Amino acid sequence: MIRGILLDLDKTLVNVLDYVDYCSALRALFKHLGREVNADVPETYWGVCASKAMETLVALSGSVEWDTASNIIEEYEIKGAGASTPMHGLGRFMDEVGKFDKKAIVTLLGPKATKIVIQIHKINVDAVVSRSRDFKPKPYPDQVLQALKLLDIRPSEAVMVGDSEWDEKAAVSAGVCFIGVTNRRPVHHFKSSIAVVEDLHGACEVLRALRKNSLVC
Ligand SMILES: [Mg+2]
Repeated sequence: MIRGILLDLDKTLVNVLDYVDYCSALRALFKHLGREVNADVPETYWGVCASKAMETLVALSGSVEWDTASNIIEEYEIKGAGASTPMHGLGRFMDEVGKFDKKAIVTLLGPKATKIVIQIHKINVDAVVSRSRDFKPKPYPDQVLQALKLLDIRPSEAVMVGDSEWDEKAAVSAGVCFIGVTNRRPVHHFKSSIAVVEDLHGACEVLRALRKNSLVC
């Protein structure tokens, strides 16, 4: 039985991405690092700058350079967070999420930007796992596993909803079933989702089916 819902934040519940100048953030980051670093991450649709900024944080995870790198990017994310807009259908979707026992945000955004977004959009959850030096970021399963720990539920009792292939990989690697939200992009690379939907209205229907046991993970 599904008891807990894990939610990606950016471009799943709220559009922050389109308000963050990730290209300037990336320039500042590369200037600081003095080099480009690479990581093996899934293909997704965030745009070159945002994708590379997040890939750089994945590559630097566990290194002494991570904190400063994350802070450089978060300066720009904080500016974008204040201008962020809800994804279509957020209110109805969160009403459905509220019918489950427990819910958590699992996001690649920095903690300060995450807090701003959650406050502005009045998102009510039991736990928040944002980007942190303590956990390897999505697409690794560590943030998802931390959310499960905070909610005190097993992977089989949770479902995650997210808009990116990074979310899917993190969820599935943690043993959590996944609902992919395409945001109507013509091409996506979701391959292990129990359902792939266009928007939060579609995700809401899948959660309802899970709640009524007409769909199982
Ligand atoms: Mg996202």
